[in-house]
Amino acid sequence: MSVNLFHRLLIAPIPYLPKSVVWQLSRRYIAGTDLNSAYETVRALNAAGCSATVDVLGEDSTEVAEVEVARDLYLSALDGITDNALDCNISIKLSDLGLRFDRELCFEAMSTLITRADEQGIFVRIDMEDSSATSITLDLYRRLREQFDNVGTVIQAYLRRSASDVADLLKSGPTHIRLCKGIYVEPEDIAFTDATEIRRSYCELLEQLFDGGAVRVGIATHDPELVEFAERLIERRNIDRSRYEFQMLLGVAENLRAGLVERRHPLRVYVPFGERWFAYSVRRLRENPEIAGHIVRNLFSRH
Ligand SMILES: Cc1cc2nc3c(=O)[nH]c(=O)nc-3n(C[C@H](O)[C@H](O)[C@H](O)COP(=O)(O)OP(=O)(O)OC[C@H]3O[C@@H](n4cnc5c(N)ncnc54)[C@H](O)[C@@H]3O)c2cc1C
Repeated sequence: MSVNLFHRLLIAPIPYLPKSVVWQLSRRYIAGTDLNSAYETVRALNAAGCSATVDVLGEDSTEVAEVEVARDLYLSALDGITDNALDCNISIKLSDLGLRFDRELCFEAMSTLITRADEQGIFVRIDMEDSSATSITLDLYRRLREQFDNVGTVIQAYLRRSASDVADLLKSGPTHIRLCKGIYVEPEDIAFTDATEIRRSYCELLEQLFDGGAVRVGIATHDPELVEFAERLIERRNIDRSRYEFQMLLGVAENLRAGLVERRHPLRVYVPFGERWFAYSVRRLRENPEIAGHIVRNLFSRH
């Protein structure tokens, strides 16, 4: 059976599975449904030498009221991070804050959040969504960056445009970038689809970011080859620990993560939580068959 057919058979029934089954499949990747579960997970990560970033699950809001709920949840998260003295920042999907239907509303909500975060010394990361949002996300990031120092965004190595986006961002001064491969399924005319090409692009972009003076580059990957490349680059160029951090998703590649912490690299874990875990899980599982494969493998390897 071809790998694609295997994956299609694997993911087709996911939306029809009972919630309890999807929860079993997803729970090691999600802190829980509420803020307290996120704090608890972050506290444990901090104790294990990792910093964290919390992400309220949700995307593609279609109404002002949804945007307000998401914004307020993030405001509570900021207060909770401070009250609990956690080493933690926040990550936000702009579509959760209305990017797709009202960019000014989104800008206002982000400004409110970043202002509160700034008062508390907390950094705010703008996640990158699919390619229909790349340009508008980068535009909004540039606008916010003019006013705030504590905001950054994400570059996806699979996009062919990324080298030029990075060059552009670096031109306008210090920029805070998380570099990842990219998780959405994109067409070949705009994205590399071959694993080797995506890795090559990742390595080139990482060098470009370091050479161009990017601030605290987020090296977001669980790919052992890329982690090794980054470690060698850091050593060869004698790059200070204040200029980068490795970043990984909750529940993924924990051995690789522990090794990096042991070798004293700064490491941040991305901690998703929220009521909308079901929609998020189903979407992620369907969007990226590789993840469905990992999850099923993890499920069986636990027994
Ligand atoms: C902190 C962080 C933030 C991210 N933010 C974004 C973003 O804003 N936008 C975006 O498009 N993408 C984002 N991503 C996802 C990213 O683009 C990749 O899809 C994902 O990290 C897998 O790529 P990889 O580099 O780990 O390499 P891969 O080659 O996909 O994975 C390497 C190895 O890691 C393990 N692995 C990887 N992913 C999983 C998983 N989910 N479950 C179990 N094992 C896994 C497997 O063992 C795999 O062999 C983020 C990733 C991280 C770590």
